[in-house]
Amino acid sequence: MILKKQFFILFMSLTLAVSCKKEEETTPVSNVKDNTHLTMGNPSNATTNTAIPANYLLEKKQYILSYNRDKGIPNWVSWHLNNSWLGNAERQDDFRDDDTLPAGWYQVLGSSYVGSGFDRGHVCPSADRTASIADNSATFLMTNMIPQAPDNNQGPWARLEDYCRTLVDQGNEVYIVAGAYGQGGTGSNGAARTINNGKIFVPARTWKVILVLTNGNGDVNRVTNNTRVIAIDMPNQQGVRSSNWGTFRVSVDAIEQATGYDFLSNVPTAIQNVIEAKVDTGATQ
Ligand code: MN
Ligand code: MN
Repeated sequence: MILKKQFFILFMSLTLAVSCKKEEETTPVSNVKDNTHLTMGNPSNATTNTAIPANYLLEKKQYILSYNRDKGIPNWVSWHLNNSWLGNAERQDDFRDDDTLPAGWYQVLGSSYVGSGFDRGHVCPSADRTASIADNSATFLMTNMIPQAPDNNQGPWARLEDYCRTLVDQGNEVYIVAGAYGQGGTGSNGAARTINNGKIFVPARTWKVILVLTNGNGDVNRVTNNTRVIAIDMPNQQGVRSSNWGTFRVSVDAIEQATGYDFLSNVPTAIQNVIEAKVDTGATQ
């Protein structure tokens, strides 16, 4: 009896080992471990193929991004925001290099922006990840940063970040994708096309695509022609500090055209065609 039981356990262990191996072999390298943050799609079809360093998929529990090795910045960062991500964790301010990048890739340091006249601008904001210290700390990895003009970062960009959390306070969950395109911005020391001895690219424009749903489940299937989508495209320049973010609203189609990405690609095309052509006119605070 005991022998029989042992044999059964051995048999089951072998079966499990074989099936795990099989799954490993058939899982494509582009598959994400937890794709919550990419529920609405992967805008540039980023993958973990290191042979494509300009569109490298980097996954964190807290957000997912497409990194551009030669620009030293993300192409885009995508994250889901609902009340489960918001808590009482303090701002960690532990700006640091991301040592999860492939071996041999240049790692931007926490100090790399010093003296540049540009802020270490979070793409996924610190204040969107306050449920735990680890969550907040993850937003300070330099792979989540772009050189951002202080007036952009601390002005309308910051107020739009606040507004996304206001939407959550009002009973919504939001899917956010943000990034930058073009080259050449104006920081507090004047214009620049790169910083850190040419290792970090300064983008010309910063953009965001925000999809708003009331709290619920099965999110892709709840997107309709009437779902609110906010898209903004603002200059990476000084002089915009007091501007209302609402004045930078554009259609998602306009950002798709400017970046070459396809946003909301998991939403049926007929619905994308409607919601991506509109320019939001809703509340801005
Ligand atoms: Mn910021
Ligand atoms: Mn699209």
